[in-house]
Amino acid sequence: MEVKQSSLAAVGTKFSQYPTDGKVEIAFAGKSNVGKSTLINAMLGRKALARTSSQPGKTRTINFYDVNDCMYVVDLPGYGYAKAPKTEIAKWGMMIEEYLQKREELRAIILLIDIRHEPGKNDIMMYDWLKHYGYDIIIAATKSDKINRSQIQKHLSVIRKTLGLGPDDVLIPFSGEKKTGVQELWAEIERFLD
Ligand code: GDP
Repeated sequence: MEVKQSSLAAVGTKFSQYPTDGKVEIAFAGKSNVGKSTLINAMLGRKALARTSSQPGKTRTINFYDVNDCMYVVDLPGYGYAKAPKTEIAKWGMMIEEYLQKREELRAIILLIDIRHEPGKNDIMMYDWLKHYGYDIIIAATKSDKINRSQIQKHLSVIRKTLGLGPDDVLIPFSGEKKTGVQELWAEIERFLD
């Protein structure tokens, strides 16, 4: 997909603040610091539209980016931020649960996993949660430039095995640094656009 236009259309923590025009949504989820802002910016061809959401003291919101006036890229706040207070984690849980449970516009989820590390407890919980809701999930293995190219397949197999992916589940290596994986991810996303 060629992104001709993108802009921040809505920011919120509850349904009354989310877009109401019914455009299809593709959501991006992942642990704090996994490279989600970098990936979204690369996908949208922007330098700094998405910001890092894990900074302490910042309200953790769901951000909706309008793309070509035909869909929303939805940035879900990162999980697993070590210093987050319990009350904030609880709020995060309720906000995400409500969104996943009720959002009719949501078509698929891109779950970001750092290619260097075996998926952690939170990643596995998130993956299982998304599966439980019946969503199509595409895994983006981020920061692929940080490992040797000869090691990429090995790391992808570890992710596949740890999350329990099936042979049909899509797993795409991505590098914000090298801008690799952008078109592959868009090609997967396009399957879910009307
Ligand atoms: P977020 O918290 O998930 O939104 O993560 P950010 O996009 O802010 O990235 C966290 C850190 O990882 C930053 O220092 C980024 O520069 C770095 N980073 C993100 N993606 C990549 C990547 O593909 N390659 C490399 N080498 N670094 C990355």
